[in-house]
Amino acid sequence: MPALIIEKLCRGCQRCIHVCENKAIKLIAHTPVVQSDLCDECEACMEVCMQGAITISASESK
Ligand code: SF4
Ligand code: SF4
Repeated sequence: MPALIIEKLCRGCQRCIHVCENKAIKLIAHTPVVQSDLCDECEACMEVCMQGAITISASESK
């Protein structure tokens, strides 16, 4: 699963956008959105998000 941003936790700091080497995160109306086809699940965005607003949700499916 690609990264998922939980909008209500996001504070719009844009750290995730700057850290993503694949440029898979874009800001749309002040909210970062992951373009799932560009995301390689590197987890870099998840690690820099101070809000815990990003999950890479493999855990839910099994
Ligand atoms: S997991 Fe990696 S590739 Fe995917 S959005 Fe986050 S930083 Fe970008
Ligand atoms: S790093 Fe977290 S709080 Fe900051 S813009 Fe990205 S998702 Fe939102």
